[in-house]
Amino acid sequence: MGRFFTLLFLILIIGGAVYIYPKVEWHSPGIDIKLDSDDVGVKPFDVLVSDIGKGLKNVSIVLINESGETVILNKDYPEGVKADTINIQIDAKKLGIKNGPAELRVTAVDGSRLRFFSGNRTVASRKINLDLTPPAADLLSTENYINYGGSALVLYKTSPDVVKSGVTIGDYFFPGYKGKFAEDDVYLVFFAYPYNVPAGESIALIAEDGAGNKKSANVPYTLKDIAYRKSNLNISTDFIENVMLPLSGESGETDYKKIFLKVNSDLRKKNDAKIKEVSAGSKDEILWKGQFHQLSNSQVEANFADERTYIFNEEPIDKQYHLGYDLAVTKRYPIEAANSGIVAYAGELGIYGNTVIIDHGMGVSTLYGHMSTIDVKVGDKVKADQILGKTGQTGLAAGDHLHYGVYVSGVAVRPVEWWDDKWIKDNVMLKIEQANAEFGTKGSDNAQN
Ligand SMILES: [Zn+2]
Repeated sequence: MGRFFTLLFLILIIGGAVYIYPKVEWHSPGIDIKLDSDDVGVKPFDVLVSDIGKGLKNVSIVLINESGETVILNKDYPEGVKADTINIQIDAKKLGIKNGPAELRVTAVDGSRLRFFSGNRTVASRKINLDLTPPAADLLSTENYINYGGSALVLYKTSPDVVKSGVTIGDYFFPGYKGKFAEDDVYLVFFAYPYNVPAGESIALIAEDGAGNKKSANVPYTLKDIAYRKSNLNISTDFIENVMLPLSGESGETDYKKIFLKVNSDLRKKNDAKIKEVSAGSKDEILWKGQFHQLSNSQVEANFADERTYIFNEEPIDKQYHLGYDLAVTKRYPIEAANSGIVAYAGELGIYGNTVIIDHGMGVSTLYGHMSTIDVKVGDKVKADQILGKTGQTGLAAGDHLHYGVYVSGVAVRPVEWWDDKWIKDNVMLKIEQANAEFGTKGSDNAQN
């Protein structure tokens, strides 16, 4: 009899083990809290959980602070889920949690039958600072006159926790740059009322802190309407063959309309994206002084934001805006820098041909296109009127001229304002002087001179 029970006992043990074994594993779940800052606000973040064994069974996330424990999430998983990305947004107001230090604790349990069927358990904890207070951003420039398609400057002061700020209009964002004032956290932002944003759009000053809390304030402005010209441009087969085909990079293409669109639309888009990319590297100080200069002895031949409809074989095939001035003098005329700055781009740029872009700081840049020769290189410091090279007709050009563009954070703006001493004084210098008076200049080195 004793033998029988011993045998039965063994059978039960082995049977049980055979039943349990596949559901047992010793790998604990993995937890990765994707927070790049200890400051946690309204900005959502991810928590990655995984289990390479039997899969996840339950994940819970709690927030612990002096007033107790708050459950943020408690999630059960069906069998076999190996990984999950949980997007967390702490709605502190709804949960009634206060600002300050807290602990974020994530517990993940897997489906293993180990530990009396309770599974392997991993606990990950992270000390955080709950910050749900939006940053401060006070607009200092409340009178703003802007020409449609033109530029503007506003100054503002933020709380010190701000990590990103600037002005938005439509889909456009213009970053602010810290000014050189005795008082910190005073910013300048040059922005545009873009030629392609309908009149009446609201302009907002936005500021964001490290925890992702945002503040938005309305920027009051008065918009002066500018009538931009519309024109039709007839395109000849000669022009497509001799100028556009080489630019298209498709020597075998015979469909003229295709070649035209490849250059005038696709390549233009690509080139304008490059201009924007170059602008993003702008220096955080004003590198220019006084009004910008028009190319000496030149006439403006094509205007800013002219809407051009391109006609080929009596059919309108494309519509584009001309985002600068065409300035013509004589062939191979020396091109002068419009103002002082640093060469940010020097080389071939598609429809603009051989091109130089000068960074004038805080997002403002000038572009010189269709050049025959370039005499400067990236990184060169240039003075106003310094020769950059000679005019030509490289790129999408029908004759020798300079294509001159002014950009604010990569958005083309009306160049004429920057040639206008009075406009610069009223719209830029006056605002900076007012801020200098209010906040003081930094040391003896006043960069905003
Ligand atoms: Zn042009």
